[in-house]
Amino acid sequence: MTSFDPELSPRRAARAEAERQATAALTLPPSPASRSANTESPVPSRRERRAASPRSRALVPAVLRGRTVAFRRRLAVLALVAVVVLAGVIAIGSAVAARHDADAPDTAVAASLAGPPAVPAEGLPVPVISEAPAPASPCDDPTFTSALASGDDGATIAAIGGGEAFRAAVASGIAPCISLSDANRQWVVVNKQRPYDPADYRPGDLVMPDDVRALEESALRRPAADALTAMVRAAADAGAGEIGYLSAFRSYATQEQTYAGRVAVRGVEEADRESARPGFSEHQSGLAVDIVPCRGSCGTLDDVAGSSQGAWVRDHAWEFGFITRYDVGRTDVTGYEPEAWHLRYIGPELAKAYRDGGYTTLEEFFGLPAAPVY
Ligand SMILES: [Zn+2]
Repeated sequence: MTSFDPELSPRRAARAEAERQATAALTLPPSPASRSANTESPVPSRRERRAASPRSRALVPAVLRGRTVAFRRRLAVLALVAVVVLAGVIAIGSAVAARHDADAPDTAVAASLAGPPAVPAEGLPVPVISEAPAPASPCDDPTFTSALASGDDGATIAAIGGGEAFRAAVASGIAPCISLSDANRQWVVVNKQRPYDPADYRPGDLVMPDDVRALEESALRRPAADALTAMVRAAADAGAGEIGYLSAFRSYATQEQTYAGRVAVRGVEEADRESARPGFSEHQSGLAVDIVPCRGSCGTLDDVAGSSQGAWVRDHAWEFGFITRYDVGRTDVTGYEPEAWHLRYIGPELAKAYRDGGYTTLEEFFGLPAAPVY
């Protein structure tokens, strides 16, 4: 390094000092402290080197130039090593990727590379949804149809699996062989929209029930008569009191007189809420009965609702196959005022399903439309 001679002329001294500083800037590496404080590279840039005048470079001692050359060589070697290492990394990465693809094609990677799947010209395939098999109709079951044909209502209902199964089959429409219009069956539905066919239908098995007080000479169909006898006996055994009845089967001709008498007193509109027109009365089926409470003498129809007999019947009539046909609050469906006394026989199997299902109209039980008017 050039030593500073204060004896030199000021001009030369200044030049020498400038050269010394230029040389120091070119060759001295920054101290650790200055390196951490100054983020600039310790290696002088090309611009900085160019800034140093050729003249001052010419004055740099040979030993310093030698250090600079060595430093540049180290830089070159480092750069070469970096390039070699980078190339190696790239080569290894490519090899791994190629092996990965060859071993097991990654669908996710393939999809990301290939983009969204192409839609075929004919469009995407429409999924085929197979229809659920239609429920088997009891009308296709020989066991059921033979029971139905025999005319035995209890056996027919048993063949389909009970009262609820029978109801469900009818209400769902899968049993067209079961007719709710057949007046000879316990499941017949008669209302203001469903008259008898023929209009003067008359059942063939009318009998007077045994051991039941009848205020009129009025019969019932055999199954209903037997059920009434059993129910009246059970009510008496339970301490509910004696149950008699006023009216059961009424022929078409009898109903003509009954309805005409009601119209004469109350007019058509009110008569229609209390009495059926001929050909539309449940009494014509031989499956309906109007009961009365008896204690010594018998009360009227209007006495049933508030009697112990009436209370017992509400809870137990279903056990014998009877339902309260015209329930409280269902005039919108039945078209009739509530009649606590009017019991309709539908058989014990259907009556149990009616009670278990919480039904209050026979129309809803079988899925029929309401019939409030003619
Ligand atoms: Zn009645």
